[in-house]
Amino acid sequence: MLFGAGLIVAGWLAIPVSAEVEAVSFPLPEDLSPHERIRVAVVTGGSAVQLYTRSAYELESLESKARLGSGRRLDKTQVMPSAGGLRFGTRELQVSGLRLISRGAQIQVNEKDYREIIQIKKTGDGKILVVNDVGLEEYLRGVLPREMPANWPIEALKAQAVASRTFALFQSLSRRDRDYTLASDVIGQVYGGRAAEHWLTDRVIAQTRGEILTYAGDIFPAYFSSTCAGHTTHCEYNWDIHPHPSLSGVSCIYCLRSKHYGWKNSLPAAEVEKRLKRAGYRMGELRGLAPEEWDESGRARRIQVRHGMGTLAIRANDFRLAVGPDILRSTKGLRIESSGGQVTFSGVGWGHGVGMCQWGAKALAEQGKSYREILQFYYPGSSLTPLKKPKPLDWFGWLFK
Ligand SMILES: [Zn+2]
Repeated sequence: MLFGAGLIVAGWLAIPVSAEVEAVSFPLPEDLSPHERIRVAVVTGGSAVQLYTRSAYELESLESKARLGSGRRLDKTQVMPSAGGLRFGTRELQVSGLRLISRGAQIQVNEKDYREIIQIKKTGDGKILVVNDVGLEEYLRGVLPREMPANWPIEALKAQAVASRTFALFQSLSRRDRDYTLASDVIGQVYGGRAAEHWLTDRVIAQTRGEILTYAGDIFPAYFSSTCAGHTTHCEYNWDIHPHPSLSGVSCIYCLRSKHYGWKNSLPAAEVEKRLKRAGYRMGELRGLAPEEWDESGRARRIQVRHGMGTLAIRANDFRLAVGPDILRSTKGLRIESSGGQVTFSGVGWGHGVGMCQWGAKALAEQGKSYREILQFYYPGSSLTPLKKPKPLDWFGWLFK
């Protein structure tokens, strides 16, 4: 048997947690307006992309903002990297990035609709990165129906809108210098663009417009996940960030009726090995896997990986993402068994388990709890805060300066 008993190996090599520990909260800047735009990666590592818009548009250089073209509509146009920059249809442009600004209707990217601005950047590996640059509230319209079904109770949807808005704004503030703020999948927030929007979730976003969560006046990343299966956990167990009082785990008995409570999935051992190597772990042939060191919420903190060259200890959430969050859904109650070259993972809950439990929020809303109460429960000590607007210009002070 390849896996199973006898996995305790003395002196195994622990992978050090990477050196940089990120801030988990900081004060809101006086003028938030530049950060109330979200840059979502919608295509990464592509070799070409097709753009189309039926409304007036402008095309400019991403770096210099120099105008490169405009028109009343843009017919389907292929954009791809070229030796000198980017090829835009038949035009050869000496730029490393482009901005396509729509003055009305949406822009189609590979036949999927997005609002406002599309940026295309040539990346170091000769591929392109396509980013949707969109206002925070417009961004949420493409997120909310993908993160929570539009037919769920209104108060649960409102709690999700506030959590998603807070999470996106935190990322926008902490990733100013990066090419994009958020991925459009489960690693960032699931973003479906214009096509995902739903009138019900649009209404919920409007009803909570500009509301975010703060702790002692500071913004923090309001993480959330599908089903905590009894207890949420500490943020610093999952990521290289500092502990935070609102992200330290609460007992949740409300997600028992989640349809994602218990799960079991298998992968061939060779595939698990391939996925770990693809995630950057240097290892020989996979010989054994065992969860170890359990946190207060019942989640494994590390996975011991026994392989042909030795032993690795991988932080459990990193291991989950490397194997695939759809296969290894949660580290809570995790069991890893193997037979006949297959590895079977089983456990309870779905997601990283930090912050709001979405299925718990649904049950609390059904019990008549308000979105304020739901947020207060999952993010203890936090406050619902309206976004500060920049102060109006002080003409009197300016005139007599
Ligand atoms: Zn829960």
